[in-house]
Amino acid sequence: MHDFSEEKYICAHEGEEHEKYFGAVVPPIFENSLFVFKDYDAIVEAFKNEKDHYLYTRGTNPTVEILEKKLSALEHGEACKCFTSGMAAISAAIDAFTSQGDHILFVNNIYGPTLRYAEYLKKYGIEYSIVLVDEGKDILEKVEEAIRPNTKIIYLESPGTMTFKLVDIKAIAELAKAKGIITMIDNTWATPLYQKPLDMGIDISIHSCSKYIGGHSDVVAGAIISRRDIINKIFYNEFQLHGGNIGPFEAWLLIRGLRTLPLRMEKHQENAMKVAEFLEQNKNVERVNYPGLKSNPYYEIGRKQLKGYSGLMSFEIKSNKIDDIRRVVNSCRIFKIGVSWGGYESLILPVFHGDNEDELKRLNIPLGLIRISVGLEDVNSLIGDLENALSSF
Ligand SMILES: *Cc1c(COP(=O)(O)O)cnc(C)c1O
Repeated sequence: MHDFSEEKYICAHEGEEHEKYFGAVVPPIFENSLFVFKDYDAIVEAFKNEKDHYLYTRGTNPTVEILEKKLSALEHGEACKCFTSGMAAISAAIDAFTSQGDHILFVNNIYGPTLRYAEYLKKYGIEYSIVLVDEGKDILEKVEEAIRPNTKIIYLESPGTMTFKLVDIKAIAELAKAKGIITMIDNTWATPLYQKPLDMGIDISIHSCSKYIGGHSDVVAGAIISRRDIINKIFYNEFQLHGGNIGPFEAWLLIRGLRTLPLRMEKHQENAMKVAEFLEQNKNVERVNYPGLKSNPYYEIGRKQLKGYSGLMSFEIKSNKIDDIRRVVNSCRIFKIGVSWGGYESLILPVFHGDNEDELKRLNIPLGLIRISVGLEDVNSLIGDLENALSSF
């Protein structure tokens, strides 16, 4: 068992230098756009090496830097940059390594807007394809076959969006490295506590901090963690030129969120495991997708590469009728209907039926899928809520 003592220290203390802010136990919000200099030479020096100086908050800011130090330490990266949203981080990372004529290979079920971004990039002559995970088929073989001479990025999610299937991260990183292809992972589900992609050979780890890192459903933000040369390249180009920097107040809220991340994740995991076990034995549930369950086909891969499980999962009821799904969703009282996840509150979200059915088929996502984010409420109340909802059809 991983004891998380290092992570707990980092979340509480890393990057904080109290003597610089009058001994205040909580670092201040440096809510300023610019920094002033003592003379001509000092500002020239800052211009020459902006990444290591405070010049303008679109580049660097002391509050933001504390957060970046914590996140990169948590995932054993050399550096981190924080963005105004997860999508700002994802699009910046993709832009940094593609140009006209390149190909991006996505592996596993990928967050919808990320695929929409890939679709958008077609107008610049950048193409993409997707390799989905099928039980029983060797994913490595499928990835190898899908690599093209112009493949620049292999971008993965593990667990994948909505279906929560896992891929062998280390094996894919090795395959990509041998072919000189850069690898990126969306590590939002696992948090920097429960999965360390850089240790497995992945080049770039990306997070939506709007989920567990914030943890209170009051911030939208993102982060990229990687080697210093990669972060520097992104800093001087996509980060500063797209202008998608996080605000100091949001960074401060995330520093506050990180202080309780280890404790919250323990509880999310404990609650989610009980909810998943309940769903698995409920007679109206067809299937539960949660890698923490021993019966899950990806459980063994998870044991190798995950240090814990978060609170997001999906399930299918024993009915494909939209009216039954509507009844289940509408019967929940504690689980609120809404997008996003990773906050203190429990949420439920069905896959929408309608004009996107072809897209769901393309991505092999069942029409009856219902996603839940298990929050920090009393677990017996959560199970009772679902039990009641599942008896509604
Ligand atoms: C929410 C989410 C994102 C996008 O993050 P935003 O902060 O909403 O831009 C990316 N990937 C995953 C897996 C997410 O859940």
